[in-house]
Amino acid sequence: ASRSYAFLCAAAIDAARASLHEAEERLGRMDAIAGDGDHGRGMVRGVDAAAAAASAALGQGAGAGDVLAAAGDAWADKAGGTSGVLWGAGLRAFGETVGNSAVPSAADLAACVTAFADRIVQLGKAEVGDKTMVDALLPFAGSLARLIGEGTDPAAAWQEAARDAAAAAAATADLLPLKGRARPLAEKSLGTPDPGATSLAMVFSVMGPHFTA
Ligand code: ADP
Ligand code: MG
Ligand code: MG
Repeated sequence: ASRSYAFLCAAAIDAARASLHEAEERLGRMDAIAGDGDHGRGMVRGVDAAAAAASAALGQGAGAGDVLAAAGDAWADKAGGTSGVLWGAGLRAFGETVGNSAVPSAADLAACVTAFADRIVQLGKAEVGDKTMVDALLPFAGSLARLIGEGTDPAAAWQEAARDAAAAAAATADLLPLKGRARPLAEKSLGTPDPGATSLAMVFSVMGPHFTA
């Protein structure tokens, strides 16, 4: 059973890869408004490395936790930039929490997402309202934990949490960035959503059907 969850985790990374390749230019343009324009490129470099590492780990018979940890380490190593370090560390934390031995229950899945979010907040020290990926991530983690706590089926809970994350990402358009490279040109970013929050909501949405299959 754990072997098949490892395959689903690798498939989740592949789904992220497809959507990030498709969105690369758009994310780059978004980041160019007040940041340095490399968010699309960085996410693609990171997820390409993560997908290759996940597939290599699967080939060696790794379980889900080790697949995600390998993917996270490769992402952090190859992406370059702030978002890559945070995504990589978050995926590793997800992997450490899911472990290698069992298919996660709904509650386990919520714990994995909480671990992903906690690691990113711990490393990046951003708070909600700073106009970063955390503005989409914490609503996602909060909605997922609440819905699963209420007994909602994990796949439905995940998709509802992903819609909340997308709405929260869009709402960052009204905020001034208080962290990261967009800070010096903060006013320019008014009216444009944060690129990292936008990509996070998108990636979580496409990963959901795999993590909750
Ligand atoms: P860089 O800013 O190093 O060029 P990217 O362009 O790939 O890296 O990523 C930028 C995104 O990183 C921002 O849109 C924001 O969402 C996120 N980010 C920046 N700093 C932080 C932080 N301290 N905590 C969380 N997320 C952050
Ligand atoms: Mg950038
Ligand atoms: Mg950069």
